[in-house]
Amino acid sequence: MLQSVIDHLSLAAEDVVSLQRDLVALPALGPINGGQGEKDKADYLLGYLTRIGLTDVQEIKVPDNRVPCGYRPNIVARIPGQDTSRTLWIMSHMDVVPAGDESLWNTPPFELHRDGDLIFGRGVEDNHQGLVSSLLLAKALLETNTTPAINLGLAFVADEETGSGYGLGALVEDHGHLFGPEDLFLIPDGGAPQSDLIEIAEKSQLWVKATVTGKQCHASRPHHGINSLRGVAALILELDQLHELFPDNDPLFSPPISTFTPTKKEANVDNINTMPGRDVVYIDSRILPGIAIDDVLAAMQRIGDQVADQYAVSVAFQVVQREDAAPITHPESDIVTRLKKAIKQIYQVEAKPQGIGGGTVAAFLRRKGYDAVVWSTLMNFAHQPNEQASISHTLKDAQVMACLLA
Ligand SMILES: [Zn+2]
Repeated sequence: MLQSVIDHLSLAAEDVVSLQRDLVALPALGPINGGQGEKDKADYLLGYLTRIGLTDVQEIKVPDNRVPCGYRPNIVARIPGQDTSRTLWIMSHMDVVPAGDESLWNTPPFELHRDGDLIFGRGVEDNHQGLVSSLLLAKALLETNTTPAINLGLAFVADEETGSGYGLGALVEDHGHLFGPEDLFLIPDGGAPQSDLIEIAEKSQLWVKATVTGKQCHASRPHHGINSLRGVAALILELDQLHELFPDNDPLFSPPISTFTPTKKEANVDNINTMPGRDVVYIDSRILPGIAIDDVLAAMQRIGDQVADQYAVSVAFQVVQREDAAPITHPESDIVTRLKKAIKQIYQVEAKPQGIGGGTVAAFLRRKGYDAVVWSTLMNFAHQPNEQASISHTLKDAQVMACLLA
């Protein structure tokens, strides 16, 4: 029965193009990005869902007085399965990022451009591709009168690009009744060109600001001051100890270790003949789940105290951003097992469950105990000029989604 859905989808290339053409022309930018939110795009999608015959459609409006309509729209639509106790959710986001420097685009960013199998425009990959795959799967089920084994649930959410507080975050926190403990969650918003990357885990993310204070003075009389640049230089090198203090290795992740990377250095003095008395450096850490962030912060402080003693400076740490890792989706969980099998069937590749450095919306679901995976077939042009997507990948990804419903 699903074979007829798969066959149907293989003929839907023109549907991909026409949907993408309409979606690209409705840029949905969040207010932080200078836009008016997702209302126009959501209204278009509500109309489309009605036209293809979907009846169980709900719009959840999350209040936001920064946009003219006063809310951020989230759409939830369902097609019942034979077993109605369980739902495969496919969650995509409607918002996009700004075009950026338009002179870097070969064609206007908010007009769809097609070249053979490729389509170009802001949002075509992030996240229209996944959205269109799921929408065409729903359409194919309805047009072939196919009742899937389990329910299909589509969620089109707002605000993914600026924090998800008005999107998936709000759905999970305030509308948790939508989701059942046995439901399966696929987020088609990340992946590899060969279709073989299934993201199931994330590291904790910790951004720290370190301020080293000494005493500024004229560089010709350095003994009158305390050089903060020597202190911060020592600190940067000593913080490498963190790799030895937290040596765990987890092959699920790439890279398999925790990383502690000095990144940004603030400017200190303007002139060459002043010895600086204050220096600031930032450290980006990606920490394997299972390691307590508080232990890392304590170790940083101990290293800072040693440097302070040795160089007669003071060293202060401040957390700029902290995201403790969500529980992982088990590599043997039902959604991962089904997805590996489906990818094998449609793409003939062995996909590998993997952890990444951090930062997907799957964490919202995993924190609530749901098994969520991030997967799709992407060329990874998100947020770039000349963002592009493949029509054939869009359809094959939809076929993979169809197999998950068996
Ligand atoms: Zn995205």
